[in-house]
Amino acid sequence: MGKIKTVWEDCDILVIGGGMAGTGAAYEARYWGRDMKIVCAEKANIDRSGAVAQGLYAINCYMGMQWDENQPEDHVRYARNDLMGLVREDLAFDMARHVDSAVHKFEEWGLPIMRNEKTGYYQREGKWQIMIHGESYKPIVAEAARKSADKIYNRIMVTHLLMDESKENRVGGAVGFNCRTGAFHVFRAKAVIVAAGGASHIFKPRSVGEGMGRTWYAPWSSGSAYALPIAVGAKMTQMENRIVLTRFKDGYGPVGAYFLHLKTYTQNTYGEEYESKWYDHTKAMVGEYIDHTPTPTCLRNHAFIEEVKAGRGPIHMVTMEAFQDPHLEEVGWENFLGMTIGQAVVWASQDIDPKYENPELTTSEPYVMGSHATCSGAWVSGPEDISPPEYFWGYNRMLTVDGLFGAGDTVGGTAHKFSSGSFTEGRIAAKAAVKYVLDLGEEKIEVNKKQCEELKEIIYKPLENYTVGRNEITAGTVSPSYLLPIQGLQRLEKIMDEYVGGISVNYMTNGNMLKRGIELLGTLQEDLEHIGAEDLHQLMRAWELKHRTITSECVAQHTLFREETRWPGYYYRGDHMKLDDDNWHCLTVSRRDPKTGEWTMEKAPLYHIVDEKEDAN
Ligand SMILES: Cc1cc2nc3c(=O)[nH]c(=O)nc-3n(C[C@H](O)[C@H](O)[C@H](O)COP(=O)(O)OP(=O)(O)OC[C@H]3O[C@@H](n4cnc5c(N)ncnc54)[C@H](O)[C@@H]3O)c2cc1C
Repeated sequence: MGKIKTVWEDCDILVIGGGMAGTGAAYEARYWGRDMKIVCAEKANIDRSGAVAQGLYAINCYMGMQWDENQPEDHVRYARNDLMGLVREDLAFDMARHVDSAVHKFEEWGLPIMRNEKTGYYQREGKWQIMIHGESYKPIVAEAARKSADKIYNRIMVTHLLMDESKENRVGGAVGFNCRTGAFHVFRAKAVIVAAGGASHIFKPRSVGEGMGRTWYAPWSSGSAYALPIAVGAKMTQMENRIVLTRFKDGYGPVGAYFLHLKTYTQNTYGEEYESKWYDHTKAMVGEYIDHTPTPTCLRNHAFIEEVKAGRGPIHMVTMEAFQDPHLEEVGWENFLGMTIGQAVVWASQDIDPKYENPELTTSEPYVMGSHATCSGAWVSGPEDISPPEYFWGYNRMLTVDGLFGAGDTVGGTAHKFSSGSFTEGRIAAKAAVKYVLDLGEEKIEVNKKQCEELKEIIYKPLENYTVGRNEITAGTVSPSYLLPIQGLQRLEKIMDEYVGGISVNYMTNGNMLKRGIELLGTLQEDLEHIGAEDLHQLMRAWELKHRTITSECVAQHTLFREETRWPGYYYRGDHMKLDDDNWHCLTVSRRDPKTGEWTMEKAPLYHIVDEKEDAN
């Protein structure tokens, strides 16, 4: 341990994760905190990190207020409808009222946004989506962050938050290690913004074996955004609301542009439209929600899943008609080349030409995230001007730990933020964090060396476990003394898959299965004390797994607590197969006691701040 170098960094604001939300936070923190020291710690390299690393083809959240296309209230109605009634409307409105200005910044910084030739407005792909030439989307926002922050630390895996020792429940910074040099990094900060993305590889993925690593959500999103705050006792919300995506099979290629722009459609293996067949069945489960427009994402999944269960799969996307038009054919391929190259490669390798063959779709394994058509994440304070008292405790986007802020996938209750909304939320959080630091004034944060040294021991222990344990075996990877990260990951995925509603059980679970799953997750947690890492890369994998496991526990606890099937198509509680608005038209909130590891669950009231007068689409 003595050989490991320690790098100390004292700053005003630490941003953890330099993805969309993190870059937005770094940029905005500089605007309001001209003289403050702003530092960002990122696991990869911010130029190509996070879910937008490969680029995007569309910005999925743009109001178009300058042309009176949509208003923020419309977006709240839309998100509320899609999430079966349950969103934090204060946060959703707050994001929506600011998101357009973020998009205008992207254009100013060089992001090519397509224009409608007739109107001159941005080219719409759908009501909320605008089309971009987005291969360089991430480097563009990264440049803004680089120019704003005092320092960007790339290749730092943040493993733990530090706590202030002079005041209870106040954050004091974070620690982690450099995945390349191995140095131990201590960031002492007055305010911390967690922007570390969502979580893939919680549930067993469809692509395993040689396909492992091909997931819909970024494979490097390891739930740190949830695990870091959970570990220090921050409250979380809606963690049961995992997302399942209908995507092109094996490559997880997105279908949005196909539906919206190419006007392709789906059919079962007999060439039949199937969604309408499941109307009565779905209505019996969820009531009038099935009559909403647009049909909530989970309910469309539900029809898909039921049709396949009925033996009429696979479901195909009908591309053969649209692809006869050379322009649409080009758009179809470019859609993948710009953001999910893997799908184009899968089609090429499986001899699938969508012009002559309708490709298969499938439903993905579940993911945990807070910015797409789902809203798992931290329970945060909303904006002062619109949040009801239960949703407001001083600083916008501050978690229930003082000085700890969140944005993007980190924040719960606000679905449909996407890339632009996540960047916007980073800006909102940073503005509030600056105010928090200013309000602290001369007050000091105390983080003593002992706290850091103890964490250092813990962080590097997997390297020692491996070095010592490796002597006991002559070959192979199975040891009586340690568990490798890949072995632990596969165990985690299996538990979540089988007990918490993954693909192998058709997203079905129940109270007893969840209780058993939670027991097995507890055993896994114990065994993870003996995880072994043969090098720094595996040390990163070890910590990713630990973060995924805490996140998974939280998901399982929430799923157990909510005794209804609120989002059929995302998951099913077999013992409570109906949506139950009488008892569960509320948000769920959890807290894990950092000392005992015990979870407490509560219901939080749901406030409808925006009226229902208009059609949601
Ligand atoms: C397949 C896919 C397609 C999408 N398509 C679109 C689209 O077409 N249009 C659109 O607008 N949006 C789209 N989105 C949504 C958009 O990408 C997300 O909403 C957005 O990236 C979320 O921002 P974030 O900052 O929370 O997470 P991210 O952008 O993922 O950033 C998280 C960052 O945290 C870092 N990190 C993680 N753990 C740690 C740690 N422990 N220590 C330090 N750093 C860490 C990561 O490396 C990463 O840089 C898509 C997402 C996916 C997955």
